[in-house]
Amino acid sequence: MTTEKNASDNWRAATRSVRGGTARSGFCETSEAIFMNSGYVYDTAAEAEASFDGSGPERYVYSRFANPTVGMFEERLALIEGAQYCRATASGMSAVWNALAASTKAGGRVVGSRALFGSCEFILTTLLPRFGVETELVDGTDKAAWEKALSKPADAVFLETPSNPTLEVLDIAFISELAHKAGAKVIVDNVFATPILQKPMELGADIVVYSATKHIDGQGRCLGGAILFNDKEWHDEHLTTFLRHTGPSMSPFNAWVLLKGLETLSLRVDQHIRNATALAEFLSEQPQVSRVLYPGLKSHPQHELAMRQMSGRGGGLIAIELAGGKKAAFSLLDNLKLIDISNNLGDAKSLATHPWTTTHQRVPGEDKIAMGITEGMLRLSVGLEDIDDLKEDLLAALAV
Ligand SMILES: *Cc1c(COP(=O)(O)O)cnc(C)c1O
Repeated sequence: MTTEKNASDNWRAATRSVRGGTARSGFCETSEAIFMNSGYVYDTAAEAEASFDGSGPERYVYSRFANPTVGMFEERLALIEGAQYCRATASGMSAVWNALAASTKAGGRVVGSRALFGSCEFILTTLLPRFGVETELVDGTDKAAWEKALSKPADAVFLETPSNPTLEVLDIAFISELAHKAGAKVIVDNVFATPILQKPMELGADIVVYSATKHIDGQGRCLGGAILFNDKEWHDEHLTTFLRHTGPSMSPFNAWVLLKGLETLSLRVDQHIRNATALAEFLSEQPQVSRVLYPGLKSHPQHELAMRQMSGRGGGLIAIELAGGKKAAFSLLDNLKLIDISNNLGDAKSLATHPWTTTHQRVPGEDKIAMGITEGMLRLSVGLEDIDDLKEDLLAALAV
């Protein structure tokens, strides 16, 4: 294998997105190859022995541990994020679970922000306690609540910003400082911001997790996840052991799809934001819409923090509240002709969902209210279509 990796140190962001991590095989292919193989062969028995006892040169031994196509995806995403390490996983949730599980153990303590993706909330409130880990959720925008929760030692802090679906923006630098004093690693679920808008590690976070299923694929094709960080000891002593022995490996085919997704990520995110900004302003003017939550709007409760933390831009997701409650929200969804009803997000196609009855259905009603989710709320993932078609679709559906 020849590799372009070594040239990447001086490359600028756009070049890294297109070429970072590329490792050409002897066939000199232009696009990255898909190494759709589970195992690898050895010339001699002694070579196999040396690969397993660690005395030989580093090489591929089994695709649960590492694979060339998955490796190219990991390297490219690490370059975009500015992280030393990236480990790909089969889904966003396996990234979340493994990052948390490798950071704590029975008798440990994890503090999280309350406004979380449904499955992240399940891991914190139900799964970790089952393994003897004490967990506590706080209102992520309440600084005093973080101070109180982190006045006791903790292993990890888990947060999502902007949060799903209420688009709360949390102060990563402030929380990281408190967390580190409490001895905790800070894990940020950066799905909504993407690495294009927000680099949590530059603000003090230790670990960044992605659902690559969302903007990194961006075209609704496959699942994937990633864990990014700088701590070599955590990698060698904790995370690698977890990944090797529990096997949440990403398929090489999915890694290839996601690798190609990274090439156009910043172009797509730019267009998602252009459309979302225009749509957030447009929706703010509609009488049926009682509230628009979009970090890019001055009316957003954490607008200034969002602008500081997210490269001055609001992202591709909007939450709206309809004055007519659940009935009006369902009517709007049912009368859309272009925008699809779907709980996915970050897609080229605009998608709308009713979080109360879908993504957060299993969260008890009072907890949903505490998270800021209401029965009249809809989440819009703004796609790449012509903005005038999106406006016309919403206008017609609102008028019914
Ligand atoms: C979708 C999502 C996840 C889970 O990712 P999967 O790839 O669906 O497993 C986690 N966090 C956030 C914020 C998400 O939007």
